[in-house]
Amino acid sequence: MSGRKPYAITLDVGSSLANHTGSWRDERAVYVDRMPPCNDACPAGENIQAWLYEAEEGGEGYERAWRRLVEDNPFPAIMGRVCYHPCEDACNRGQLDEAVGIHSVERFLGDEAIRQGWQLDAGAEPSGKRVLVVGAGPSGLSAAYHLTRLGHAVTIHEAGPMVGGMMRFGIPRYRLPRDVMEAEVERILALGVELELNRKVTNIAESMRAGGFDAAFLAVGAHIGRRAYVPAGEAERIVDAVSLLEGLEQGEKPLLGRRVAIYGGGNTAMDAARTARRLGARDAVVVYRRTRERMPAHEFEVEEAEEEGVMMRWLQTVKSFEDGRLVLERMELDEDGFPQPTGETEELEADSLVLALGQEADLSLIEDVPGIEVEHGVVQVGSNMMTGHEGVFAGGDMVPAERTVTVGVGHGKKAARHIDAWLRGGAYEHPPRPELATFETLNTWYYSDAPRAEQSQLEAARRTSGFEEVVAGLDEDNALFEARRCLSCGNCFSCDNCYGVCPDNAVIKLGAPGERYEIDLDYCKGCGICVEECPCGAIEMVPEEA
Ligand SMILES: Cc1cc2nc3c(=O)[nH]c(=O)nc-3n(C[C@H](O)[C@H](O)[C@H](O)COP(=O)(O)OP(=O)(O)OC[C@H]3O[C@@H](n4cnc5c(N)ncnc54)[C@H](O)[C@@H]3O)c2cc1C
Ligand code: SF4
Ligand code: SF4
Ligand code: SF4
Repeated sequence: MSGRKPYAITLDVGSSLANHTGSWRDERAVYVDRMPPCNDACPAGENIQAWLYEAEEGGEGYERAWRRLVEDNPFPAIMGRVCYHPCEDACNRGQLDEAVGIHSVERFLGDEAIRQGWQLDAGAEPSGKRVLVVGAGPSGLSAAYHLTRLGHAVTIHEAGPMVGGMMRFGIPRYRLPRDVMEAEVERILALGVELELNRKVTNIAESMRAGGFDAAFLAVGAHIGRRAYVPAGEAERIVDAVSLLEGLEQGEKPLLGRRVAIYGGGNTAMDAARTARRLGARDAVVVYRRTRERMPAHEFEVEEAEEEGVMMRWLQTVKSFEDGRLVLERMELDEDGFPQPTGETEELEADSLVLALGQEADLSLIEDVPGIEVEHGVVQVGSNMMTGHEGVFAGGDMVPAERTVTVGVGHGKKAARHIDAWLRGGAYEHPPRPELATFETLNTWYYSDAPRAEQSQLEAARRTSGFEEVVAGLDEDNALFEARRCLSCGNCFSCDNCYGVCPDNAVIKLGAPGERYEIDLDYCKGCGICVEECPCGAIEMVPEEA
């Protein structure tokens, strides 16, 4: 049994007397590396299978795993806390028992790196080129990191007084402690990225000219809270969720009162409601015009909010707000699933109304710049992340895409590769994508049952009394266990099964680092037993060359 894989059963080495195969074989076995579905689904393009493989060794394997991970994403401790982990929705193990807790191992590695003080590797030889990054949110920071490692001199202009963007001014501390975020940002700055705070860019073309920059990456996010017209008395308190969360982060003490209504059904509404409870609201009531099933907020966020006493009113809209009373209208879904007014109303007592209806981007910095196209309030970019203005690239919340930290980080990486190629007078070509390692390519018989290691949570009573982190990380034993649950889909993990099972002893063990096995074609009869018995689908039969 392999030292790394306690959860896979392996076979003994074959002892048959092998014969030279002659010329009758019509198929032969070849080793392949397929694309694991987790890797394919990660918006930051992490090689998850590869870093989990390193982590499975424990000890020194953790640092190797972390180094492998940060090649794609410099924020494992942040990701392990806030990423909605689409990788786990795609994980093949989910069809066997439960998906591997990729985010929890990622968080463990990120926290371990902070604890141990691991630093990022320095960049390539200086290219002599200068790039301006606008905005120090996840997308801008990711681009700055990758561009620096590619040898370019990067300066970030950030309008606000602190780094982090919505990781600081949106996501509350009880989900992302600020010391964790700052530690991962500091490491990027230590590579030599220049950061200028309180430096709002008002015209990108002018800023590039004035600073002598060769290219720019725009990542200004979407910070303007969308308003809805709600007829209200003058004394009524209406605030938008992002201003509320941002104000709190800047040290303001928002006066919301004891009864707070939150209008909207997204993740921001959940964070605003949970924050209101922490600020002392007895009643935090979310009003949403559709049903729970159609709510954009993730199920786990709704559950966590409910555990903290947040109440939900589905199929209702806010009509007016006067004398401490909200008038709510009941809605009905039509056949197409759209909410339609019914004319029936009811009242809800409230001291304040928080609008959580989405955000828009402030695109004033590109207004006078020729060539840049804006549609539906977002900047259009090509497949290389370049806007219609040569040398100006953009990503994150300000371009058309899902608005998450991970998508922003992925855009930063992708844009950096294209900016690098553009600065060097070429075009970046993504390497060809290997075939997907689907569940059907696995031989799951070889894997033992292993229930997922769950993260513990702060008890509900303690949650609402402050901003302490709610979800705890895994300890080392559990993180190691969780890493070892990975099936290594489509990539050999050296279990020796092919070596053991081949009736003709045609499998040669190479042993050198990075080299695994080779098929001795003088002996392979093309029986395909190795393919049948490989747990992870890392061998395939190909037609014999004529
Ligand atoms: C309440 C809330 C909770 C969220 N929770 C999650 C979550 O749990 N998980 C998740 O994945 N995503 C979450 N998101 C979404 C996520 O935060 C964003 O998608 C992500 O931060 C976008 O990154 P960005 O770099 O594009 O922009 P931002 O993070 O918005 O950063 C943009 C930066 O640009 C600066 N800037 C703006 N204009 C200028 C200018 N003209 N000049 C210079 N600087 C400028 C801003 O000050 C800001 O620092 C949440 C969002 C909110 C609002
Ligand atoms: S960043 Fe998100 S999607 Fe990518 S590996 Fe981490 S948890 Fe999964
Ligand atoms: S089992 Fe491992 S390699 Fe396969 S999809 Fe899940 S995390 Fe990825
Ligand atoms: S190719 Fe498959 S069977 Fe052979 S050692 Fe690798 S994982 Fe095991």
